[in-house]
Amino acid sequence: MDVAAILQAIEVAAKNSPDRGRVADYIPELASIDPDRFGMSIVMADGRQHSVGDARLPFSIQSVSKVFALALALGRLGDRLWQRVGREPSGLAFNSILQLEHDRGIPRNPFINAGAIVVTDAVLAGYAPREYLGELLRFVRTAAGDDDIHINQDVARSETETGHRNFALAHYMRAFGNLTNPPEMTLGAYFHQCAIEMTCEQLARSGRFLAGMPGMAGLVSPSRVRRINALMLTCGHYDGSGDFAYRVGLPGKSGVGGGILVIAPGRASIAVWSPGLNSQGNSKLGTEAVERLAKSTGWSVFG
Ligand code: GLU
Repeated sequence: MDVAAILQAIEVAAKNSPDRGRVADYIPELASIDPDRFGMSIVMADGRQHSVGDARLPFSIQSVSKVFALALALGRLGDRLWQRVGREPSGLAFNSILQLEHDRGIPRNPFINAGAIVVTDAVLAGYAPREYLGELLRFVRTAAGDDDIHINQDVARSETETGHRNFALAHYMRAFGNLTNPPEMTLGAYFHQCAIEMTCEQLARSGRFLAGMPGMAGLVSPSRVRRINALMLTCGHYDGSGDFAYRVGLPGKSGVGGGILVIAPGRASIAVWSPGLNSQGNSKLGTEAVERLAKSTGWSVFG
């Protein structure tokens, strides 16, 4: 299979697309990103890496960071984490507050904002935000095999100044007793975690542990990797998760920065970036690109 040629065809299709979606502007610092950017990178099980377009430009990984935070949280708390957050798709927008009332402050899953805030709160317990962020960065850098991965402080500040919905979610959960740290502290850590920047090449390499690639089993155990992948498949694209599973057939996690990390277990780790989003807050061209990739390669967790 000529993965390099497949990637080139995907890049041409992306370049010619008449509709690139809309760049997220609710975080002011992200609003000025060039919507014409497109990058994609694939690390194969044999270690070869193929890239096209802007695959070496750093972008804000935003909610893709929730995968790494979850891996840390499960490592530290194990199954106790599930007392505070569920494992069901939400069917609602990523920042919805609706279900929290109904479910008495227990978010549906660790990938919607409320759930990710609880995950960060749980890992934070007993640690200073700086220690948590240091541990998270160490984890991501080890996974990627690259120390040149950093937090964009301007993006973190921008979201801290404007993240009223996230503050509302955190305070609401605190009222139900499902937040142990002061909301400002947990959110400070959460906003900085979302402001990690990576290139597609780095992000694809950081997903190797989820694809079960050789040498990565020490980072997260195989049984936990399977569970994280299951959550990515069912909850990784908010209320677009079912559609992504249907169209792509692979676990993936998107972020409002326009990045998506996609895992073809045993075969490849894939990262794509295009800042324009569809109506569900997932990268429009990124989703189309991985759909093309899955079609051309036949990669699917469903055989
Ligand atoms: N930092 C973003 C927020 O909390 C993450 C959302 C996303 O990437 O989907 O709103």
